[in-house]
Amino acid sequence: MCPTVDDGAPATNGVQANGSHEGFTKFESDFEKKGKAHTVNKNPYQPVGDFLSNVSNFKIIESTLREGEQFANAYFDTETKIKIAKALDEFGVDCIELTSPCASEQSRLDCEAICKLGLKAKILTHVRCHMDDVKVAVETGVDGVDVVIGTSSFLREHSHGKDMTYIKNAAIEVIEFVKSKGLEIRFSSEDSFRSDLVDLLSLYAAVDKVGVNRVGIADTVGCASPRQVYDLVRTLRGVVSCDIECHFHNDSGCAIANAYCALEAGATHIDTSVIGIGERNGITPLGGLMARMIVADRDYVKGKYDLHKLKAIEDLVADSVEINIPFNNYITGFSAFTHKAGIHAKAILANPSTYEIIDPADFGMKRYVHFASRLTGWNAIKSRVEQLSLTMTDAQVKLCTAKIKALADVRPIAIDDADSIIRTFHGNLHKENEDPLLPNMTEEEKKKFEQKQRELNGVTEKRELEDQADKEAEVPQAKKTKTVAGA
Ligand SMILES: [Zn+2]
Repeated sequence: MCPTVDDGAPATNGVQANGSHEGFTKFESDFEKKGKAHTVNKNPYQPVGDFLSNVSNFKIIESTLREGEQFANAYFDTETKIKIAKALDEFGVDCIELTSPCASEQSRLDCEAICKLGLKAKILTHVRCHMDDVKVAVETGVDGVDVVIGTSSFLREHSHGKDMTYIKNAAIEVIEFVKSKGLEIRFSSEDSFRSDLVDLLSLYAAVDKVGVNRVGIADTVGCASPRQVYDLVRTLRGVVSCDIECHFHNDSGCAIANAYCALEAGATHIDTSVIGIGERNGITPLGGLMARMIVADRDYVKGKYDLHKLKAIEDLVADSVEINIPFNNYITGFSAFTHKAGIHAKAILANPSTYEIIDPADFGMKRYVHFASRLTGWNAIKSRVEQLSLTMTDAQVKLCTAKIKALADVRPIAIDDADSIIRTFHGNLHKENEDPLLPNMTEEEKKKFEQKQRELNGVTEKRELEDQADKEAEVPQAKKTKTVAGA
């Protein structure tokens, strides 16, 4: 069983209702205060130029209600399915794929109910490449039918036992039937990367010839690497003129990279699920794909999808399948936009692009600095001082930071400890008899704290001396440069 949501945990993934992030502080960078955009002058992550690439023109087939239903923890009742379908539609996915209506009577009824919602997204259902299934599918009210059949030797031998001629004839029969009903049809092989390439290409060429709308490549076992994906999609692009859909499992961690490579090679549609849920460890996650694609083409992604709705959809699905959003989840993970090291905080304050390739604001998310730690820096503490509406000079903030770092070396400190030190330190500035920075320390902790403070003071003095030496050493160099520049 997967871990369940802890009753005591906040429902919004560690972010409290008041917007604070325990142990962290949100702040605006100087860059943002000045109203400048979160961009770098030249984007080194610009997609590779390629006339076949669909990196700036891709579509999403959202399969949480099909692939996602195959996730170990998933059980979606009708009401939940409708909520998820509506949320995905509002987000702006192009197609929503549903479980086969042949799976169960309830699945058929749910499929009909979702078709009646009148959503903007196309509603598709995923069935076996067999007339019995297809006949049921076309009666549900869907816009399109996705058929699939195993083509690898493993599946041909151990699953359905059919040869390639049988598969081709069955495919042509169902394609012609679905088209005669005025619906869209996709034909996909299963386990495509372990299928014979010549068999696969001749099968796709045959279905393209009879007018299939899309062919699908599926890395059903998650074995493909990005280069293999690029090669196969690029080769297929030269064989068929219809759209190409790709479905990637994440067993070896390549599901997002493979999706990106498929688009670069000319694929048109990518299958996703919310948080990536699906068979085993799932498929390309919707949020992860958004993270990858916004880096490649921010205008396309922002213009097409309502990114601010991503977190709510993930929370909805996570609650439905009783899992937590992983801490390292793309965009919405607890630490996705949290900066801890002091040197990072300083640079982020000056310009967020220094340590962020994605702007959290594009997704309605916030940036945080973890300041209650030994890795904190005075810029992060300065930001917290301002948040607490206290006034201190930079020199005072630096001294206060040294005390927080000293304490963090003695014991783990919570946000309250850091705030308490900041407040008491501030109060002591105007007092003759200083209050202890933390009243609840044990004698042993006090001793260690004193020792750490002495060590830190030593480091500070040493740094000051080094800075002074550096400055003196820089003088002739600076003069020399000026002379050259002026010459
Ligand atoms: Zn799958």
